[in-house]
Amino acid sequence: MIPDIPVIIECPHCQHQALKEILISGNTARAVHWTDGKHEAPRLPEMPRLTFCDACKQPYWVENAKEIEDGESGLSAERKATQLQRITFPSFSEYQSCLGTEIIKDRNDEIYIRIRLWWCYNDYYRNTYDNEEIFSDPRGFERSNAVTDLTKEITDIYIDNCRSLLKLFNGQKQEESLTSAELHRNLGDWGDSLILLELVTSEDLESYVKKIRKCVELGDKKVQPVSRFA
Ligand SMILES: [Zn+2]
Repeated sequence: MIPDIPVIIECPHCQHQALKEILISGNTARAVHWTDGKHEAPRLPEMPRLTFCDACKQPYWVENAKEIEDGESGLSAERKATQLQRITFPSFSEYQSCLGTEIIKDRNDEIYIRIRLWWCYNDYYRNTYDNEEIFSDPRGFERSNAVTDLTKEITDIYIDNCRSLLKLFNGQKQEESLTSAELHRNLGDWGDSLILLELVTSEDLESYVKKIRKCVELGDKKVQPVSRFA
């Protein structure tokens, strides 16, 4: 993984500055694919598309944030790293707070946020796996926004969110059928999960289908690793 010098961006609400990391190159060595569609590639980490400002605590889309030229900021490249905070992924409750607000402009925005809300909860289970076994590396993968306690309140939000995601998918694409099958499995709706798996015939998705079907047969609702790429 080769990181470039981070770019300074400005919060569109209060102009507070933060650092956006840029990758020049990376690769999927030691990447792990999970049944809920999350890919964790230690050498090609996902970057936040949505973040919360450290100063005004409001959310904004990173792609819409103004980038500040080095000259304008008055900071040297070395000092930027120590004086400004890097943007981070929102937490479970922060993603939830975005639902039904103006930050969501279309169906894709809502799907992005609801998928990440789902993943934050599933990260609780991801964190129970042995990193050495999953990643061939004891350091594993940092999940800074994982849910740390599965309270009834959090679980109720999770269940509600899974149901809302299911309504957002129209089942036209195989990937959406697969995601819906996984959502039904996470909810314990075994029959619905199996029906949707029948619709997924693409060879590229075969390993996911097999894994999810096996979990349904075992009555297991938890997220599982599908495959590891060397
Ligand atoms: Zn702000």
